[in-house]
Amino acid sequence: MLNLEKSAAAFAEAKSLMPGGVNSPVRSYRSMGSTPPFIAKAKGSKIYDIDGNEYIDYVLSWGPMVVGHAHDEVVAAINEAAALGTSYGAPTLRESELAKLVMSVYPSIQRIRMVNSGTEATMSALRLARGYTKRDKIIKFVGCYHGHSDSLLVKAGSGLATFGVPDSPGVTAGIANDTITVPYNDPEALTAVMKEHGSEVAAIIVEPVAGNMGCILPKQGYLSFLRNITTEYGALLIFDEVMCGFRASLGGAQAAYGITPDLTCLGKIIGGGLPVAAYGGKAEIMDCVSPAGPVYQAGTLSGNPLAMAAGIATLKLLTAEPEPGQPDTNRILTLKVKEILAAVDAAAKKYGVAVRLHQAGSMFGIFFSEKDVENYEDAEACDQEAFKVWFHSMLEQGIYLAPSQFETIFMSMAHSDEDIAKTIAAVDVSMKAVADSKK
Ligand SMILES: *Cc1c(COP(=O)(O)O)cnc(C)c1O
Repeated sequence: MLNLEKSAAAFAEAKSLMPGGVNSPVRSYRSMGSTPPFIAKAKGSKIYDIDGNEYIDYVLSWGPMVVGHAHDEVVAAINEAAALGTSYGAPTLRESELAKLVMSVYPSIQRIRMVNSGTEATMSALRLARGYTKRDKIIKFVGCYHGHSDSLLVKAGSGLATFGVPDSPGVTAGIANDTITVPYNDPEALTAVMKEHGSEVAAIIVEPVAGNMGCILPKQGYLSFLRNITTEYGALLIFDEVMCGFRASLGGAQAAYGITPDLTCLGKIIGGGLPVAAYGGKAEIMDCVSPAGPVYQAGTLSGNPLAMAAGIATLKLLTAEPEPGQPDTNRILTLKVKEILAAVDAAAKKYGVAVRLHQAGSMFGIFFSEKDVENYEDAEACDQEAFKVWFHSMLEQGIYLAPSQFETIFMSMAHSDEDIAKTIAAVDVSMKAVADSKK
């Protein structure tokens, strides 16, 4: 048994200090019904808890640590920046350097604005879309997560009502009323909504590869359908690539699927583990943001040198030209994921467990299901008890996965062949545990 004595004591104390003992809900392991390990340090592919347990980390701070934890070059860049002052509230060269790095792989981004979280990026992109189109309504998809701003914490109303209802106390009915929610991967549902409300819609915001209801891929042709229908009705198409950016491919889902959105939100990886996110897109639209234009948005710590340094160092490592004849970093990550998923598939067959396995580059997911999983409803219908058994068995064996089926699994450049081999060995044991739990 994993010894989590110190973590359990720390968690008990933390609960008296922070709501649920955490600063972000999923960390609490509530849906797994167990104690979260308290982390003391991390290096490369490994994290270590305060009880001295070592884990191979596939959470990677929920995505950002794509070059591995505490990478020497990232740490050096942060140290160098810190020694020169952590924030000035004035323009710096590093902001332009990170902007150019991002634009070199995201040609749809002609202007960019750095912010401090994905939540801020999507919130600001929506305000911009509303300001630019002079329309109020937005459309989001059930199960896509875009951070916790009021307009986006909205769920589908019951029955035939198209208008959303608050998904959290504190979100007003008025705000929810301007957000329409539609099932993911369902062109008919969206077409019907656009027929009725298309002329009032400022933007459709989507995770072009969904990662917050587990990893769910867009169906063939779905993203080009979104591109076409937004153009038809004069609404903006916002790709929230906060998670799938630099993961679905280096150029994100937009490069992987060949679709050009009007605005893109990035986050997670672009801060290399520090709080950075961004929104950007067509110059004509972005130039409506203050002070170039009238749509207000600002930030005391936005683009601070420490955060820019971490982002620049991470993106340089990630986008470095490969040696001639060698695959690029995303290809390497993709192949590592394929190895693991092949092992999961083999173990599932061996023990007679039904699974659905999804991958987009360096992000992947496992659903315990006999049916294909294409949207939130499908994900909810999966065998969550099986997931719980799987999760705890993997954790016991030192494999640190997200404590929820509704999350994505991530690969880093630091995961070694030995890490993959250990993971594959653990997969067999855990799949047997799932099968045994059904007897
Ligand atoms: C994580 C995430 C966000 C929110 O980012 P925060 O930095 O946690 O505010 C928004 N959109 C997507 C797709 C995400 O995965």
